[in-house]
Amino acid sequence: MQLVLKGSRLIDGTGRQPIADATLVIEDKVVTAVGGPEVPYAADAEVLELPGCTILPGFIDAHVHLTMPPVGDSFKVITSESDAMTALRAATHAQETLANGVTTVRDMGGKNYVDLALRDAIAGGMVPGPRMLASGRAVVMTGGHGWPTAREADGPDEVRKAVREQLKAGADVIKLMATGGVMTPGVEPGSPQLTYEELKAGVAEANKAGRRTASHAQGTTGIKNAVLAGITSIEHGIFLSDEVIELMLEHGTYLVPTLVAPYWIVKKGRAAGIPDYAVKKSEDVIEAHLASFRKALAAGVKIAFGTDAGTPFNEHGANTFELELLVENGMTPLQALEAGTRVSAELLGIEDKVGTLEAGKLADVVVVAGDPLADIKAVRNVQVVVKEGRIVKAKN
Ligand SMILES: [Zn+2]
Repeated sequence: MQLVLKGSRLIDGTGRQPIADATLVIEDKVVTAVGGPEVPYAADAEVLELPGCTILPGFIDAHVHLTMPPVGDSFKVITSESDAMTALRAATHAQETLANGVTTVRDMGGKNYVDLALRDAIAGGMVPGPRMLASGRAVVMTGGHGWPTAREADGPDEVRKAVREQLKAGADVIKLMATGGVMTPGVEPGSPQLTYEELKAGVAEANKAGRRTASHAQGTTGIKNAVLAGITSIEHGIFLSDEVIELMLEHGTYLVPTLVAPYWIVKKGRAAGIPDYAVKKSEDVIEAHLASFRKALAAGVKIAFGTDAGTPFNEHGANTFELELLVENGMTPLQALEAGTRVSAELLGIEDKVGTLEAGKLADVVVVAGDPLADIKAVRNVQVVVKEGRIVKAKN
């Protein structure tokens, strides 16, 4: 049976102007027609009338940690609980994420492969959640950023082996740690970690298996190492120099800024139980982070939507707040919506299936009340979510 959504406007994610008085026809798992009020559909179709609403492609969050609780000290919680508890909580996070209109996520580092099991459980229909691409364990140098849940590896040969282990476990994407970060004590965000040679070995190993790569990279030298090593995306990108931006353009490297991650750490602060080292480091870098984002945007670097959900107070299910921050810092609402849909799909290499609303694509759809092009805050008002043609969140 057909499912038909009728809304005041539809943004298809392709860059085209919105369609007014839109009709979206879905049959089984796929979109079969998109257009205005004239689009025909079957007499017995299930029709959702959504006046005042905007129909969009489902959002794609390219950087989450579904296994991590968004509390003050997430690492402490995750490393002191059983994998069974982590898995149960991660399933709840997945459901919250889907209800926010996020129909696909790229999980960027879990614990003991709980992320890979969750991916399979969702794909198998055991638990509700977004489609997942998952990285398994992040590959880091000994004592590097995120080491408590990562795979430590030193030297190109060991990095190769560490990447092969993730591929063997079933990782869809490989996460390599090019610099320090905010959430690990004694590790500076700006300091390089895995070397160029190590990153190059890791990327080559992933590419050989047809997988893409992502690098947590905050300091300039580490970002440059990762870009030159052929990384697919730079996560966070706090200190972007003009030279690095040029290299990213040249190599087609994506930036996933995750502006929302330091935002909450600085906003909630020590009083909320976030470790002092994390608050201090975030306060030190937040201005540089925003300046780097604006520079990359102006230069035309490909920017995708990612939140780092699971870091302190960066809630699963509040993912779309990042879109508001992207607009606050210089994107147009349409740019932010396309970063959240088509551009993220391209980064993940799944743009032939999702990311736009076109005939033949999987029917991943989010409907929000109001017009996000007039006010991006409309993305807060999710009314309906459809994943692969099935309504997974219905209008209240
Ligand atoms: Zn992260």
